Amino acid sequence: MTKGFRVYIIHKVRKNLELDLFDIFTSEGKVITEKYDSDPEEFSVAGTSYAVKDAKPVTLRIENIALNKVYLTGSCAFTLIMQCDRCLKDTEVPFSLSFERELLSKELRDEAEEPEECGYLEENLLDVYGLIEEELLLSLPEKVLCRKDCKGLCPVCGANRNEKECGCDTFVPDPRLAGLGDILKQLNKEV
Ligand SMILES: [Zn+2]
Ligand SMILES: [Zn+2]
Repeated sequence: MTKGFRVYIIHKVRKNLELDLFDIFTSEGKVITEKYDSDPEEFSVAGTSYAVKDAKPVTLRIENIALNKVYLTGSCAFTLIMQCDRCLKDTEVPFSLSFERELLSKELRDEAEEPEECGYLEENLLDVYGLIEEELLLSLPEKVLCRKDCKGLCPVCGANRNEKECGCDTFVPDPRLAGLGDILKQLNKEV
């Protein structure tokens, strides 16, 4: 059996976790299970990079379900350092992800009439962190809070209101009355 010419694209930007799927794509019925001690420094999601802490091993199970087609299941867990949406303080957010995908070999993807973009599969090389980042995008919390009752920043002086009472007047006038305020100010000037 000839394996053909394989092109490896190595991204040097960060420590990568990559897995060549060529053999499993072409070995019918084959199953592999892998466990990687991973230590990614950061994950980038929707244009923002988050530092990673306490990464647990990544487990992957990949099963050939037909020639050039595999079924992947996997899991991983880690903590991201994100910013509190209210006070901007660094906040640790734990994630525990499990994911599954059907993956097609480059050969099958090239044959498809409308080839699907697959950001984490380059030729037959699986970018495991790329896959995790895609999964993360679907799992990001709507709101990150350092604590449930975070009081946020003072809109007047910018102080962190969890740490001190700045005593600023943060009264926000009813916008429907703002016009009235202008009229009163004008009247005062004229007096
Ligand atoms: Zn906060
Ligand atoms: Zn203030």
